[in-house]
This record gives sequence, structure tokens and C-alpha cells, in this order.
Amino acid sequence: MMKKIRTVLGDILAEELGFTYSHEHLWTNPPANQKDRDLELTDYEASVSELWRFKHAGGNALVDATTLDYGRNASQLKRMSLETNVHVIATTGFNKYIYFPQWVNSLTIKEITQKLVRDVTQGMDGTEAKAGFLKAGSWNQLIHPLEEKVTRAVARAQLETGAPIWLHTEAGTMGLELLDILAEEGVDLSKVAVGHSDRNADPYYHLKLAERGAFVQFDGTSKIKYYPDSTRVMLIKNMLEHDFGKQLLISGDMGRKAYLHAYGGGPGFEYILKKFIPRLLEEGIKKEEIDTIFIQNPANWLAQF
Ligand SMILES: [Zn+2]
Repeated sequence: MMKKIRTVLGDILAEELGFTYSHEHLWTNPPANQKDRDLELTDYEASVSELWRFKHAGGNALVDATTLDYGRNASQLKRMSLETNVHVIATTGFNKYIYFPQWVNSLTIKEITQKLVRDVTQGMDGTEAKAGFLKAGSWNQLIHPLEEKVTRAVARAQLETGAPIWLHTEAGTMGLELLDILAEEGVDLSKVAVGHSDRNADPYYHLKLAERGAFVQFDGTSKIKYYPDSTRVMLIKNMLEHDFGKQLLISGDMGRKAYLHAYGGGPGFEYILKKFIPRLLEEGIKKEEIDTIFIQNPANWLAQF
């Protein structure tokens, strides 16, 4: 039987997904200890208008990576998906330990696993919108003991539900070590995407991740404060030249007002479709390879239900 993708409006066939941004944020509300409120996206009209821009530029599906500890709001995601007809895939799980709620400390791995399973199989935040993937992550150059704890809970929820996994790697570090924990728990690493990998612009590291069978995600597109896009083009070519084009995901992770047109920033959701992909084509990357990265790969990663 063909596997399905779990969106906030229900399960769809893999071939219905279409052109996808595989790591973005439509709605966020980081906990109060995050003083940088540029990270907060809580204006429905602004968020939905950015989503319309994505759709008008040719987008069909968007993965929202906002976790339960980062102000996820399933009913707003549902509303935006209904209004625009863009497929929205939401997550359950955790960001980095600095954002964890107190109960991560007090509950057992088994109890945390049960919470995650409920979000995937019954619904999130008191709605019927289900999570389509699980998320765990690391701190910079180390995995905090609480991060290890939730990574194991995510692994066990994966085994129970089949849901794919996405990993937050702070500054692109600890991807291999997080994969080790998942593998130890028995997770098939072909269901796992290692996010923020271009923050560590090391071609060798990317090949090592890909050799483990995982998807490698570059989600810093346009962020010149880290690297110019020329670095990302080089990293993409490295993956393609080593025959890992089928394990590459690209997105923008524009989770700040400063990045989104509708919140007064830029370059916004249009950037990859209108500027970055034309550049990739001009720099010799083939149309078929673009389709693999933005259509087939997200579908292969997400279709686990
Ligand atoms: Zn993100």
C-alpha cells in the first residue's frame, strides 16, 4: 500500500504534496526566556499573507517546524491551510533544551513518548490536527542530557507511529551524534532529516550524514550573515556530485519577522522560488535535480503513514 503524508487537514497521497519548503515557520511564540521577540510570529493576517506569496510563486506544501515548546498553534495552522489550500505539515517534539518545559525533566521517557504519540495519532493542542513528523535536537557542540532524553522519546514515538523525524542541530553540529542515538534505539535513518546542516559548511560532514542514509537539509538559504549563497551552491553541488541528490532537502527557515515580507522584513517565502532556484539553474543544476530536491525528496521523507 502506498504510504501517506500527514497534514494538519488529514492524510494525503505522496504525489499530492507537490513543490515543498521542508522547514519553515508560520506561527511561533518562543517561551519568555527568549528575549529576542523578532522570533515571535503571532499575527494571523501577516502569516497567511506570506503563505499566499509562497503559493502565488508556485508553492504547494510547507513544513512548519514549530514545536510544542516554541509556541506551536495547531488551530492557526489549520486555518491558514484551509484558507490558502497549501498543504501544511506540523510537528511534535522539541527544540533545544533552553526552551524545554519543566515536565521534560519530571516525566519519564515513556510518558514523554506517549505525549508525542498522541499528537501524531489523535491531534495537537486540543484540535484534531495531527503532527506529521517528530522533532528533537541538540545544543551547540554538545547534546544536553535532557536533549538526549527527548531524542530517545522521539525515537520510540517513531517506532510506534512510523512518523518521520527532523533534527535541530545547533549551528550544524552534533548531527552524527544525534543519528547515533536514534540508531541505538532502532530507528531506520532513512526516515530522518538532519536540519541546519549548511550552518556547518563542511562538505565532508554532509557526505558522512548522507552515508548513514539520512536526509541532509540546507535551510539557511539567503542568510548572508552566515554564508553567501555561493557557499550553499557549492554544498549542493557536492551532494549531487556524490550521488546524494535523493537525500537533499532545501528550505529557508525564515522564522523571524526580519525575514518575512508580510512582517516588514525580507527576503520572504518568495526568495527560493523566485531567486534561488533560477540561480541554481543558471549555475548548472538541472531542472530534474531541482524537482527531486523540492518535490520527490520531501514526499519520500514525509510519506510514512
Ligand atoms: Zn526552524
